[in-house]
Amino acid sequence: MGRVIAYAAGGVLAVVVLIAAAAGGVVAAIFGGDGAATGEVCLGTVTNPGATPAGLSPEQARNAAVIVAVGQRMKVPVRGWVIAVATALQESDLINSGAATDHDSLGLFQQRPSQGWGTPEQIMNPDYAASKFYEHLLRVPGWQTMPLTDAAQAVQRSAFPDAYQKHEARATEIVKAYTGGTLPSCDPVAVSAFGWTRPAPGPIVSGFRTPERPEHDGLDIGAPRGTVIRAASAGVVVTVLCNVAGTSYPPTGGPLPCDTDGNPGLGGCGWYVQIRHHDNTGGDIVSRYCHMLRQPAVRVGQTVTAGQPIGIVGTSGNSSGPHLHFEIHLGYPATRDNATDPAAFMAAHGVPM
Ligand SMILES: [Zn+2]
Repeated sequence: MGRVIAYAAGGVLAVVVLIAAAAGGVVAAIFGGDGAATGEVCLGTVTNPGATPAGLSPEQARNAAVIVAVGQRMKVPVRGWVIAVATALQESDLINSGAATDHDSLGLFQQRPSQGWGTPEQIMNPDYAASKFYEHLLRVPGWQTMPLTDAAQAVQRSAFPDAYQKHEARATEIVKAYTGGTLPSCDPVAVSAFGWTRPAPGPIVSGFRTPERPEHDGLDIGAPRGTVIRAASAGVVVTVLCNVAGTSYPPTGGPLPCDTDGNPGLGGCGWYVQIRHHDNTGGDIVSRYCHMLRQPAVRVGQTVTAGQPIGIVGTSGNSSGPHLHFEIHLGYPATRDNATDPAAFMAAHGVPM
């Protein structure tokens, strides 16, 4: 029997679990607001807590079981369980080791007492370690639409930030072993009979070519930073650029001006995406989504479905605060001349804005 049992023994565990549960309640409450705003809830249920996923030893399986159990208790969307398991596979191979290998890193997630993660005794408790991982993950804006490796790295700040991605498929299979072989659908978006859906929740805070803003070629949807932005309809991504002050930068993976908040005098769409759609007579339609917080989650040439997450709300480029600037163009490429009122267009396609 492994080290887990040694640390799980006795009354210490009960106390730690209570503390972790209390912390989890706070996080779930914070997330609850965010989840409502993003429409991304996607909670899962552990139906087989005693499972031994293929390829895991009993010790590894017990630790994986703790990670998914804590995820369920804290009401973390299932995507977070997969990220947590993938991270633990990379950091510790799901073995709860008390031998510090890198600085003072300990336990399933190689958390460091010197960096505020807890005492060595706390970190060596898998329940506590998983709770701390989730607490940090839930604070990362837009974590549900980030590549797994970026979400894990935002929590872990590893010297090897690309190392998590290779565990995604295995982590998914491990989580499925505890949930009865399936994962819940994470995209409960309502798509109209015309195939269109709202790109983000929130009120319209500025309209199309109003008397005050005759040059404003789109709708502004007020939404908190980190809100998921979705493809308004199925199509092909034709543009992913950082556009500020008259210059467009293709994504490089490295820092670009759009990674910082913009301002109303700056000019530009910030991080933005354009998707090319076809109407029912084969005509071109382009939708445009501006001011994203960071490099969008899609690439040029990628086919997307209606409601698929493409990025998250930010305030990059010519923007006074977090919102989605949304345009519809009747033609390709998108120009000022073929811009149309998104509110009228969406209403005609079964989506009241
Ligand atoms: Zn706007």
